[in-house]
Amino acid sequence: MIVVMSVQATAREVSDVIARIRAMGYDVHISEGKERTIIGVIGRGRPIDKEQIALMDGVVQVMSVTHPYKIASREYHPDDTLVPLNGIEVGGPNLAIIAGPCSVESREQILETAHAVKEAGATALRGGAFKPRTSPYSFQGLGEEGLVYLAEAREATGLPVVTEVMDPQLVPLVGQYADVFQIGARNMQNYALLHAVGESQKPVLLKRGMSSTIEELLMAAEYILSHGNMRVMLCERGIRTFETHTRNTFDINAVPALKHLTHLPVIADPSHAVGKWEYVESVSMAAIAAGADGIIVEVHPRPEEALSDGRQSLKPERFAALVEKLRHLAPIVGRRVPEVEAHHA
Ligand code: PEP
Ligand code: MN
Repeated sequence: MIVVMSVQATAREVSDVIARIRAMGYDVHISEGKERTIIGVIGRGRPIDKEQIALMDGVVQVMSVTHPYKIASREYHPDDTLVPLNGIEVGGPNLAIIAGPCSVESREQILETAHAVKEAGATALRGGAFKPRTSPYSFQGLGEEGLVYLAEAREATGLPVVTEVMDPQLVPLVGQYADVFQIGARNMQNYALLHAVGESQKPVLLKRGMSSTIEELLMAAEYILSHGNMRVMLCERGIRTFETHTRNTFDINAVPALKHLTHLPVIADPSHAVGKWEYVESVSMAAIAAGADGIIVEVHPRPEEALSDGRQSLKPERFAALVEKLRHLAPIVGRRVPEVEAHHA
């Protein structure tokens, strides 16, 4: 249930409503919008008489939220949530362009890639130090050494670092180096991990599980939000279908559906969706045209030598060409590619 307060509601009226709801055994989550305060009623309490709440001073409307996710819903938070990243607000007119290798492979490789993507106009640098690989025999990432190189790349370029955390116990360590926690598709329903990043205030890029519905993605986001971290960006990275030509199938429908259902920014990952670099540009353009707030793309200076996901990695010059195309496309959908004066997020 959500309680929409009047634009003129006084602080006292808001606090009276909150006290009444808490007295019934519920938690409240307050959303201070541009125009008005909305009170989200969460948890399990005694039955509430909506009509009585509606009669309280300052209350405009009491609504049931029919979705199982509450804080993530548009009803609860009508304004777009804006997540700060390198001087832009993800979810606003500026598109977030996150680029870098699948894995951090060496100090030289990440520095070279960071400079190249910065030059091409990236907003942030991606790179995995802890890699969730399907095979235990595949490269598992450099671990903390990789995080150290990522931090050095940030120092050198000013680009904030987006990197995956796979284990709740490693959240403090990864948090020492990362500007954005990435939760990988395989961990979308790792609730202990969602809880741990929910207790941080660092932005989280939450990837959709490869066989998860849109509602399950939003429920995963709800875990993070309900632990107090509102800086969540959702990521469509392709889902499993019967098609095998591409690695996954980019669910273009998810982009407008998520923008409709939630206030959280939506980032497209065309690289993992298609698995082949040749299609990355087209799917990036389609996602932005459909309303995505940004992209996360794999870029490697020598894809043929990559230790993971080389097949889908763009060479830096192809990434630069993609950014140029987005620069032309963005204004058609009311967006722009930011001219990033890089500084720390
Ligand atoms: C990645 O970003 O390199 C990755 C492992 O992605 P996903 O979790 O979407 O498979
Ligand atoms: Mn990858």
